[in-house]
Parts: sequence; structure tokens; C-alpha cells
Amino acid sequence: MVSFTFDDVPKSAATAGAPILEEYGARGTFYIAGGLVDRWQGHWTGVSADEIVDLHRKGHEVACHTFSHARATDLDAAAMTLEMEKNRRYFLALEPSIRIENFAYPYGFASVSHKRQLGKAFRSARGILPGVNSGAIDLQFLRSTPLIETNIDREGIDRAFDEAVAKDGWLIFYSHDVRAAPSPYGCSPIMLRHALEAASRRKIPVVSVAEALRRAGA
Ligand SMILES: [Zn+2]
Repeated sequence: MVSFTFDDVPKSAATAGAPILEEYGARGTFYIAGGLVDRWQGHWTGVSADEIVDLHRKGHEVACHTFSHARATDLDAAAMTLEMEKNRRYFLALEPSIRIENFAYPYGFASVSHKRQLGKAFRSARGILPGVNSGAIDLQFLRSTPLIETNIDREGIDRAFDEAVAKDGWLIFYSHDVRAAPSPYGCSPIMLRHALEAASRRKIPVVSVAEALRRAGA
């Protein structure tokens, strides 16, 4: 399986990235920080509330980052609970049928002290350590590979898919904005399409993180 995930989330991930996934019959996972919604974030403007509801209605997964985008390593247990609850309440207020099941660590910084706490609140937590998830998987530290122009090229994407096939594993990509001239943290529509074509050629199902966990029986 392969999952395409977007963090924070920039508006273009919803307005350009999601429709490209849909063209391929695929759905993505969007790890949204409620505190960044509709805000200029330095490299992009955040997704709007309406766009979040639209993503949900189209079958994409709305998932959790910390509300303020604080790193887990800067939060004690009580502050982490507040961040998670604030984000959860934010999405519930937007649309009561949104179910928040999965989490991604802001900046990829996982902390061992939060693993148990997050494990109780979410089915999985995703980091940014590259590689295929296979064999004994740590659901509270899922690996993910950048789909980011400054980090990977087409050959790298193809190699990641080949490794996923060889290991019969689960490949998770993460990105941010999706634009012809992306930020240093995003990808172009061409790169996203290249990855979707690579999945399609290998007949690898493209599913959200929640759906991948269901299929894996996790
Ligand atoms: Zn983030």
C-alpha cells in the first residue's frame, strides 16, 4: 500500500493536491494544525475551514497535528493533552462527522515520553524517518518518505516503490504545498503525478492512513 500525506496543511494541498489524488481514485491524509487554518505560515497560506470540510466530504482523511504546531518535545503531558483536545474540538465544531484517528509529529520530532499518551489517543503517529513500514511496525512512529522536491527526485521515488514491493510493505509519503513552484517543503503537481503513476504501474493501492490501518487489521 501507499499513502500520501500532507502536513500543516497549506491551501494548495487541498486545492491542487487532493484533486490530483482523486483523478487516480485515491484519497490522502491531511494532518492539520487547527491553529494554522487560514493563516499565512511563511511559505504558504493555510487551508480554509470550508476546504477542510470539503476534503472530508470527498473521502480524504482529516488527521491531527498539534493545534498550535508546537513540537511534541516542547510539550509536557498536560500541554500535549490540551493541544490534542483543542485540535479535536476544532474539527468537531467544523463538522461533527469528522473522526480524528491519526496523528503526525510536528517537525517529525517524536518523544518517547509521549508515545504511550499518543498511543491511547490515536491509532497511529507518523514521524519523518524515511523507509518502508514492514515487518514489525511501530504504529506510534510510522516511517514516512519525503515527497519534497528538495529531498527526493523521480529515481528516488521509484526506488522507494521498488523497496515497498520487495518488502511487501506500506510506503507513506509526506509533503506540504503542491504548486508548480513549491516551497522547500513541498512538491510540484508533476512530482505528485509521477508518484501516483509509479503506484498505478505497480498496481499498489493508494489509501489514506486510516484505510491502510483498517486493511492491515491494525
Ligand atoms: Zn507540520
